[in-house]
Amino acid sequence: MNMEPALNVDLHCHSQVSDGMLPPAGLAARARRNGVDVLALTDHDEVGGLHEAAAASRELGMRFVPGVEISVTWAGETVHIVGLGVDPDDAVLVEGLRDTRSGRERRAREMAAQLAAVGIPGAFEGALVHVGNPQLISRTHFARFLVERGVCKDVGEVFQNYLVEGKPGYVPMRWATLLDAVGWIRGAGGVAAIAHPGRYPYTPLQFHALYDEFLQLGGVGIEVVTGSHTPDQYREYAEVAVRYGFLASRGSDFHGPEESRVDLGCLPPLPAHLTPIWHDWF
Ligand code: AMP
Ligand code: MN
Ligand code: MN
Ligand code: MN
Repeated sequence: MNMEPALNVDLHCHSQVSDGMLPPAGLAARARRNGVDVLALTDHDEVGGLHEAAAASRELGMRFVPGVEISVTWAGETVHIVGLGVDPDDAVLVEGLRDTRSGRERRAREMAAQLAAVGIPGAFEGALVHVGNPQLISRTHFARFLVERGVCKDVGEVFQNYLVEGKPGYVPMRWATLLDAVGWIRGAGGVAAIAHPGRYPYTPLQFHALYDEFLQLGGVGIEVVTGSHTPDQYREYAEVAVRYGFLASRGSDFHGPEESRVDLGCLPPLPAHLTPIWHDWF
């Protein structure tokens, strides 16, 4: 019997380099305080915070895994692919991420124009106040502006009433392809995992096609225990992991102390019968 205490592994979170609220070093410090043994920073479409987070983690005696969360368009919907163990200086990855980010400013200006048309002016400038990285203006920054302005009581309410399909402030985006995202991650020495599958609006047939294509491309993992899933979804995606032979991942998807439901390192462990994506890392 394996009597070693389980490692507290958190492989999904965001810093100010994307839409998180803490700087990379602050995130590492908070993770350590919360008892995290292994941390991955996975900013949206960005690797710019990885060197700072790695240095801070080293000082804290915490293992660090350089990561990224890539925005992908698949079958007309957005899917997030997490890359773990990527080289932050890989030229093809860095260039691919720069391309992926490049439409964000124009999209943000269109979002602001739509919000102005429903009586909420100044959203572009207002969102920008919350942005830590001028190349990465996201819907989260608009959500924070709408809360600050008193339009909604919290970020969750914003995403029910604005910025999503059919609501004011929604601008469709064409992100990276699944082929490119998995290719950049693997080319940079990393492994790819499907982030928070419970959030996608696909039919069972589409999910099957997504898993199949992802595996064909060399993807290996799926998030099972994430801040975006309910306990029922832990069970549902544990079954998916077994059925498709995915390695399982665990990550809080922490964005900020006041905003995130789940803090760094505070999720339940992976179900014991799954193979963790970190099984051969140490
Ligand atoms: P973007 O990449 O600009 O489309 O923004 C996506 C980000 O918006 C996600 O990574 C989340 O941080 C945030 N988000 C999306 N939907 C929700 C939601 N329902 N509640 C809170 N945050 C959300
Ligand atoms: Mn986010
Ligand atoms: Mn995501
Ligand atoms: Mn995320």
